[in-house]
Amino acid sequence: LHDLALRDLDIELARYRADYAALQVQQLALDITRGKPAPEQLDLSTAMLALPGDGDYVIDGIDCRNYGDLAGLPALRALFGEVLDIAPANLIAGGTSSLETMYDVLSFAWIHGTGATGPAWSSEPVKFLCPVPGYDRHFAITESFGIEMIPIPLVSDGPDTATIRELVAADPQIKGIWCVPTYSNPSGVTYSEQVTRELLSMDTAAPDFRIFWDNAYAVHPLTGDAPPVLDVLSIADQEGHPDRPYVFASTSKMTFAGGGVSFFAGSPDNVAWYLGHLSQKRIGQDKLNQLRHVRFFVDAAGVRAHMRKHQQILAPKFDLVTSILQRELGNSTIASWTQPSGGYFVNLEVFPGTAEHVVALAHAAGIALTSAGSAFPSGDDPRDSHIRLAPTLPSEQELRLAVEGLCTCIRLAAAELVRRNHRAGA
Ligand code: PMP
Repeated sequence: LHDLALRDLDIELARYRADYAALQVQQLALDITRGKPAPEQLDLSTAMLALPGDGDYVIDGIDCRNYGDLAGLPALRALFGEVLDIAPANLIAGGTSSLETMYDVLSFAWIHGTGATGPAWSSEPVKFLCPVPGYDRHFAITESFGIEMIPIPLVSDGPDTATIRELVAADPQIKGIWCVPTYSNPSGVTYSEQVTRELLSMDTAAPDFRIFWDNAYAVHPLTGDAPPVLDVLSIADQEGHPDRPYVFASTSKMTFAGGGVSFFAGSPDNVAWYLGHLSQKRIGQDKLNQLRHVRFFVDAAGVRAHMRKHQQILAPKFDLVTSILQRELGNSTIASWTQPSGGYFVNLEVFPGTAEHVVALAHAAGIALTSAGSAFPSGDDPRDSHIRLAPTLPSEQELRLAVEGLCTCIRLAAAELVRRNHRAGA
């Protein structure tokens, strides 16, 4: 576009405007905003609705109908301990949302501090490191606490550790970092073992620095098998910082979204700390839901077999998205995108300065996208170029229309910007 003579640029622009007008005429109503499972994925777990079934409520001598067992059912902790490579003693099976668990953990640190004797994080200014692009709901939590968020570039093997090392060594107000170590939301990046070790071993000015290690997509590959889960608790222990990682996971994208089981894991001290504060909030867990999950999966191999069925549904959708992007924009330099091997998102980079405009154009044509900038703290994408695509929920037909329409918007927004710059420069 940049190289076109003004006359040719105007011809292109007129063509893109006509394409966009044709798109608007279709009066689409499509939604690729959030990473929700598709109905066919939820169908994979429908059999759970009949579990545990009449008369099945005792396991390992525990009556799941009653209060108690705040750490969750031992059978489920053992099952997911194998999946997540965490000793069951260090793994708590909780309620139905890991995001809520993260909010709780931050609240406990905020009110009481991370150790037995504080200091409460609320007693001084707190900053968090936020690898970008990242998960908007993580950033929303820290923002709601008034925590200052510092963006950190996420590169191909994890967040930029050289930058992090410098920052955490110098500033005791930096208390935490958000991490999605496997098939990161939204970039699909998986942290290497080296990056993981560096994060767990580096010197920090804050003695109570914590890594919020949200392994939401640990067993969610789109191609082949998921990488082995790194045993972060043992690594942290070896590196002399056993209390640094707070580990989270859930079955939201295995069984029912928002109706599965969430997990928290940490060192023995962190587990005792978490349960101590949690015991002020609740008397036990929903053990019937946990039992249902034990009966449904049976063992770790059952989880992996189940996740292969998700993969069969999702892989064609991701292939469709990337093949349309390649067909429509592959020969241009106005967009690039990820080809994720797992997780729930495609990371799309459009022509810098146009992401907001692309999302607005798509919206006006009946295609709902996640707000531009949402993958950055406070919604502030300095290049205005990032868009998160969530291909899981729509049908393939809907997805095709949505992504083709999106490409029309991307071309139009880029051409309009180049034309404007041309005019400003002329
Ligand atoms: N963490 C990440 C990285 C996610 O992408 C999501 C869901 N979009 C969640 C947590 C939410 O998980 P839950 O349903 O267990 O609260």
